[in-house]
Amino acid sequence: MKYRKWMTVGAALAFLFTAQPVYAAPVIVAGAGAPGTEGTQTAGEQQAQETVTQAPGSSQDPASSETAVAAQSPTVVSGQGQNAPGSGNSGSGAPTSNGEVTGIPEGPGGIKSEPVDPVTPEELAAQEAAQAAGTQQSTAQSTGGIDPSKPMVALTFDDGPQPSVGNRIMDCLAQYGGKATFFMVGERVGSYKTEVQRMVAEGHEVANHTMNHKYLQKLGAAQIQAQVNQGNDAIQAACGVRPTLLRLPGGNHNSMVVANAGMPMIQWNVDTLDWKTRNADKTVAAVLNHVKDGDIILMHELYGATGDAVARIVPELHNRGFQMVTVSQMAAAKGKTLEAGKLYSSFN
Ligand SMILES: [Zn+2]
Repeated sequence: MKYRKWMTVGAALAFLFTAQPVYAAPVIVAGAGAPGTEGTQTAGEQQAQETVTQAPGSSQDPASSETAVAAQSPTVVSGQGQNAPGSGNSGSGAPTSNGEVTGIPEGPGGIKSEPVDPVTPEELAAQEAAQAAGTQQSTAQSTGGIDPSKPMVALTFDDGPQPSVGNRIMDCLAQYGGKATFFMVGERVGSYKTEVQRMVAEGHEVANHTMNHKYLQKLGAAQIQAQVNQGNDAIQAACGVRPTLLRLPGGNHNSMVVANAGMPMIQWNVDTLDWKTRNADKTVAAVLNHVKDGDIILMHELYGATGDAVARIVPELHNRGFQMVTVSQMAAAKGKTLEAGKLYSSFN
């Protein structure tokens, strides 16, 4: 009986952590989700981008330079059928500023153990009954109650945590039952553990945006691995959950990055350019004028205007029947396997 009890607890815990990804068949794409933009830049354009990035020591965000590449084109849609990973984007179109986050007190303390929510006997009984009911249950668990037959979208927020905006985003999502994915910079999370813990508690996905927001295509293998691993360590230390997804700063990559990331790399196919416009109307339009089933939408957690935009975007997506899901939930619902060392920009 003891064995059976532990098996039951295990099943219940598995249910509680359904936000974790279930890996299934990949859509492989390359590029920053802006097809053609990186490859078509002129040297002059690159220079121009490099000169507009923020000064060191600014409290501004790494994102002000991050999506400079994508800024060459308006909102971009879809990324399927692009070149395979490692096929050679050498990062030539990437801005060179390293976009470091500055002025943030250093972070992670000791690794905490994984939080374990109490499971009531009623929940255990319900779980057992559900398991006995049939094999469909495992599918329902893996998709977190998402209906794969209905449209869904993954809202993603980079460069946080930033409680002044992130908590507003979560407040809004909570009203409509939506979930988001937060790609966070490792060196920031130690200062904002409460917010990161809230993300986990409310079913959002905590994901890695490297330790220091370094442009990885400029680094060697060991440095790339360190940026990824330290980012994962910092997030795990803050909230108890180790990320399973990576977003590359700027979306920048080359064959060295792809070979050493060690995680699925999540790009995007709708770029709001919120970091650039800092204008809620434009961010709202960038999403609502283009959004479709399977999109991965890029926004940034650092800007008040983005929080304003989310407060308008989320209710409208809900009205249109979109399920707002995490990246891992969407991959699972679409039957896609997320594999380490591969890039994904949408699940259309
Ligand atoms: Zn970023």
